[in-house]
Amino acid sequence: MKYYIGVDVGTSGCRAVAFDEGFKILAGASKEYPTLSPRPGWAEQDPELILSSVTEVLKLVLASPAVRGERPAAVGMATVMHSLIGLDEHGEPVTNAIIWADLRAAEEAEWLKARYGTPELYNRTGCPVHPMYLPAKVLWLKRKAPHVFSSIARIVSMKDYLISRLTGRFLVDQSIASATGFLNIRTLKWDEFVLNAAGIDAGLLSEPVSPLTVVEGFTTDYARSQGLPAGVPVVLGATDGTLSNPGSGVVSPGQLAAMIGTSAAVRVTTGEPVLDPKARTWCYYLVPGKWIPGGAANNGGNILRWYRDQFGAREIEQARAMGVDPYQLLSRRAAAVPPGSRGLIFLPFLAGERSPYWNPNTRGVLFGLHLGHGPDEVVRSIMEGVVFQLYSVYEALVETTGQPAEVRASGGFVKSPEWLQIMSDTFGVPLVVPQVPEGSAFGAAALAMMSTGALEKLEDVSRFIQIEKTVEPVSARTEIYRELYGIYMNIYRKLNPEFAQIAELQAGKRTGQRNEAAS
Ligand code: ADP
Repeated sequence: MKYYIGVDVGTSGCRAVAFDEGFKILAGASKEYPTLSPRPGWAEQDPELILSSVTEVLKLVLASPAVRGERPAAVGMATVMHSLIGLDEHGEPVTNAIIWADLRAAEEAEWLKARYGTPELYNRTGCPVHPMYLPAKVLWLKRKAPHVFSSIARIVSMKDYLISRLTGRFLVDQSIASATGFLNIRTLKWDEFVLNAAGIDAGLLSEPVSPLTVVEGFTTDYARSQGLPAGVPVVLGATDGTLSNPGSGVVSPGQLAAMIGTSAAVRVTTGEPVLDPKARTWCYYLVPGKWIPGGAANNGGNILRWYRDQFGAREIEQARAMGVDPYQLLSRRAAAVPPGSRGLIFLPFLAGERSPYWNPNTRGVLFGLHLGHGPDEVVRSIMEGVVFQLYSVYEALVETTGQPAEVRASGGFVKSPEWLQIMSDTFGVPLVVPQVPEGSAFGAAALAMMSTGALEKLEDVSRFIQIEKTVEPVSARTEIYRELYGIYMNIYRKLNPEFAQIAELQAGKRTGQRNEAAS
């Protein structure tokens, strides 16, 4: 039996899934790992722990009865974007992985903007200037941790770290590389101008190669010591985000993927790089002839999770007694409130924000509260606010890539009929909900199949993706949401100076206020 493994290395955990040639799931295993926050605004992960977790899920799948001890035809990899790990001359980590959520390099990003201007850097790389991208992170290391920087012989991402430990090769796929902020989005080579701006040499980085590159895998001492089968072809693969497009069948121009999981994103698939004159969206590379323009929001399902954890004790208890998910009860509460949450508007910026305005200082706002509002209105306004925010990214993306013929919805939010309806009504479009049990792992397996000739082209994955349902917009509600969205955007714009002030105050940068305000 011929089968393929897709590995999805995400922020909260990793997964390995075995698929047969018709994308039928044969076996799967997952493992969670923590994000560390040693200081406010910092977000790190232990690369060794992620390596051992990936090894563990691979071993579990390889040992599953469904694959009967046979070797996979190939293993494809999807990994997180924007991570930086410093390695010493022996390839040992001298830093944790500094991940996408880490904002320590805010000053360096501002410096890059002031010195070079966003257009100069964005037009080369497809990445706006932001502390999450590597040029700012590298500058932070050079300026704020020079003793660490001087011990770094290589700068890698989570992908090249895992590939090097599993295959002995320092290679990075051009998809992951395109999300560092150092790759030229047209030539798909490291961009000398941007490297100079960050003051590093290309020799510090891994060689960028096609995401379809096949390497002889599990050949290292580490892989052998773990009992992984030496010689299995490992396909470099791409980023988790770009691979979730084929994972939901968004493979051709005219289709758009709208996702609300822990974070949220809208993405399209194009035949060439598409950049936004206002740099509100990014553009990453997927495979030859396919680019993924889109925008990601920090504030998605994590905001409902925050509500559940901070204020949802009653729902958690009730859900336990009923044997259901607390989110289901929250969703029902929202459904009991009319569209527009009785005039309550929630700006969901609890985690700062990326697209479309790339402002890490934004914060949450509950606007329009009166004595008649209760928890049900607040829950619904959270769901609506998350969708309004994603709609602002959608508007920016559609401006440059054109009105989509089809919008596909994915992520944990599709389990809530109410939340799906809010998106369909706000966007004013029908939402196609595909069955995507394994989005990025599916995409990684698809690349493994393409590399080994089992799949001719990416578009062919569409044949294997079933549609669960389509949600139609209700025009009367679209009218309500568009009116509220107008107010929402005005509040956002008006509060810009106050967002900066409150962020500074919360960071303890204004003396005398630190202890009361920041703690
Ligand atoms: P990840 O991005 O980590 O893969 P998911 O795609 O599973 O996460 O999305 C998780 C989010 O989906 C949760 O934080 C929650 O906001 C939302 N969610 C999950 N189940 C439901 C549900 N039944 N109703 C409403 N929201 C839900």
